[in-house]
Amino acid sequence: MEFQEPETEIKRLKLLHQYRILDTVPEKHFDDLTQLAAYICQTPISAISLTDFQRQWYKSKIGFTSTEELREMTFCAHAVLQSDVFVIPDTLMDERFANNPFVTGEANIRFYAGAPLRTPHGLALGTLCVLDRVPRELSYQQIQSLSVLAEQVVTQLELRRNVQNLKLNIVKRQKSEAQLRHNVFHDGLTGLPNRALFMKRLSAAIAKAQRCSSSLFAVLFIDLDRFKVINDSLGHGVGDRLLIETASRLKSCMRHEDVVARLGGDEFTILLNDIQGIRDATDIADRIQTALTLPFNFSGQEVFISLSVGITLSTTGYQRPEDFLRDADTAMYRAKAYGKARYEIFDVSMHDSAVRQMQLENDLRRAIERQEFEIYFQPIVCLASGKIGGFEALIRWQHPTRGLLDPLDFIGVAEETGAIIPIGYWILSEACRQLHSWQLKYGATSLTISVNLSTKQFSQRNLIEQISSILQSVGLNPCSLKLEITETAIMENAASAAEMLLQLRDLGIEIYMDDFGTGYSSLSSLHHFPVDLLKIDQSFINGLERGAEKSKIVQTIMTLTQNLGINAIAEGVETAEQISILRMLQCKFGQGYFFSKPLDRAAAEMLVAQHWNKAGEAISHPNCSAQSIEKLRRG
Ligand code: C2E
Ligand code: MG
Ligand code: MG
Repeated sequence: MEFQEPETEIKRLKLLHQYRILDTVPEKHFDDLTQLAAYICQTPISAISLTDFQRQWYKSKIGFTSTEELREMTFCAHAVLQSDVFVIPDTLMDERFANNPFVTGEANIRFYAGAPLRTPHGLALGTLCVLDRVPRELSYQQIQSLSVLAEQVVTQLELRRNVQNLKLNIVKRQKSEAQLRHNVFHDGLTGLPNRALFMKRLSAAIAKAQRCSSSLFAVLFIDLDRFKVINDSLGHGVGDRLLIETASRLKSCMRHEDVVARLGGDEFTILLNDIQGIRDATDIADRIQTALTLPFNFSGQEVFISLSVGITLSTTGYQRPEDFLRDADTAMYRAKAYGKARYEIFDVSMHDSAVRQMQLENDLRRAIERQEFEIYFQPIVCLASGKIGGFEALIRWQHPTRGLLDPLDFIGVAEETGAIIPIGYWILSEACRQLHSWQLKYGATSLTISVNLSTKQFSQRNLIEQISSILQSVGLNPCSLKLEITETAIMENAASAAEMLLQLRDLGIEIYMDDFGTGYSSLSSLHHFPVDLLKIDQSFINGLERGAEKSKIVQTIMTLTQNLGINAIAEGVETAEQISILRMLQCKFGQGYFFSKPLDRAAAEMLVAQHWNKAGEAISHPNCSAQSIEKLRRG
């Protein structure tokens, strides 16, 4: 049999399949046309056939029952290749068909006429055909009619296709609109409801509680502890996976009617609907704490986290969802302040302290321009010679209404709000300027100053430039400046810390590790960072004379410093006994009330003046000569 060009055939088949009509149920528009064709041509059999890859399938038929035939046996396979109606007046007389099973077999077909179903693309998908069991002719009008009816079949096919495409487009559009609606109200990373949706659900809960006084709900504000450290040290990929896994663990602790949302970053909120009392909320807080304490495993890397949770109940009677969220947030901050990995329930006193905190933030912003900060100086003393080696600069704030404030009262807030950056810059330059002036005035060239660097300051990109420009403008020798940083500051800037410390060392500035022993990295990380001295935290010195436990710890730290070839300062030295133990343990320096409390500028200057003789040599600190210690001990 004849064939179409393979390329045209491929196109034709592709087009046929786009109509999505094969193997569909009968449809009246098509059946009407088959009926009309049989009626006009006066034949017992008629059909709409579609020519598929290997088969011929009937969309509509009259006078037979089969649904499809092998393509190569059919008359229509020939008809689709013609441009006009294809007529076989007597199949037995036509050598192409005389042996065809449809002719010789039970079907006994003797007459065929098929009009190709030519689409607007010019390709024939099948035929509208009429058949008979006796040989015969068709009149000119009948052939014309068959042609016109075939065009009608194609029109129906087109129409059907357009309607179908329209339906598909509508479904697609509906899907993308639903996706868009979902995106507006959900967090892209975890798929949880976002802040907007949470607020909506919270508003609904508030409205319900107002209608029905027995309806109680709770809001939980959750923040992951140490998330920043994990994110910075293990990378954002792990950070993202941690958030996704956290979201799913949180969800698994909830009932269907509760709402878990991600506000952003590592902050999640939960709305507990229809609870009986505070116990239900604290039970849930315990449950999620337990669920999240189980280690996370990311490609073999175990990660541990904990949560700080703030809880507030609907009994506060607020109308606005923001108020609930604020209180829960305040309680969460309290949980952080009380040592993390715990929950706190909001109470009104927290609100008051939050208001005070805000006031403090505002005051802090103005404190620099109003020149309300002062530097106090606490001597660091060599335990063997009793000589003052340097001072630690400690900030104080002369608050307009609250009096002199210790750093504990405001450094945390300054750190959180970023105010620590200008404050830190101020103290650095003031401390350097002051030291330089004493060095000149009293010939105290060996005197040093240590300045505390906060975590935020340490993460500034331009810290090195800042410091070197201060040193230059003041004219201070970099060896006179020591920077005190904590283990936490290093760990929270793990990626850049080593590089930064090396650059400082290149400048000639020494690094002191402050409050050593209280951070969460301690020994393991020390080797990686160029540290010149450890300041042993005062918690290990306090009570040193009363128990073997503490002196063992200090001894261990001392062994560590000896192995690393660096010095140590004991912080918070208050008694002569402590000093003699520290001397025994070969701790080189001490700092504490035993020698002196932090002194204001004038008192410190007086000490420098007494301490440096005219030849520029330091003489022993009055509290620290061997004799005076002996005296103190005896008396
Ligand atoms: P720090 O750097 O460990 O400073 C030592 C703290 O221990 C000082 O508290 C000091 O007054 C106190 N101290 C010294 N000797 C004794 C003693 O014998 N017994 C007791 N009980 N305490 C003693 P201060 O001045 O209140 O500072 C607290 C912390 O605030 C400092 O701890 C430091 O971390 C931070 N800080 C102070 N000034 C600054 C600053 O200018 N910038 C930054 N970023 N932080 C600062
Ligand atoms: Mg310090
Ligand atoms: Mg310290």
